[in-house]
Amino acid sequence: MENRLSASCHCGAVRLDLAASAAGVLACHCGDCQKMHGNFNAFLAVPVADVRLQGAEALVWYQSSADARRAFCGTCGARVLKEVTPAGRWLISAGLIDGPTGRHIIKNLWAQAKPDWYDLPAAPA
Ligand SMILES: [Zn+2]
Ligand SMILES: [Zn+2]
Repeated sequence: MENRLSASCHCGAVRLDLAASAAGVLACHCGDCQKMHGNFNAFLAVPVADVRLQGAEALVWYQSSADARRAFCGTCGARVLKEVTPAGRWLISAGLIDGPTGRHIIKNLWAQAKPDWYDLPAAPA
């Protein structure tokens, strides 16, 4: 049986069904993620071909840097995903996944850029 995860935004306009191929959750502490998520960005990296997206018309895209754009729900504002050019993978916000993921944070990215008000989440060295 195919192992898949389902995800949805807060209002339910956007739904994703994705292959549970990602090994774990990545946590990005960079300045862009802080500004857009209000915190670090915890996500699963999944090949675009392995994602079924419903409600694409509800997504608003924002070019967050020269080679990346991010999508949020135009109704509830949930940060749904980040796409790095050339688009091969979508970085899907872990908080949108419904039910247990069976995964943990496996890596901190841009750890040196994190703000001073929290400690890095535990991740294997
Ligand atoms: Zn929504
Ligand atoms: Zn980031």
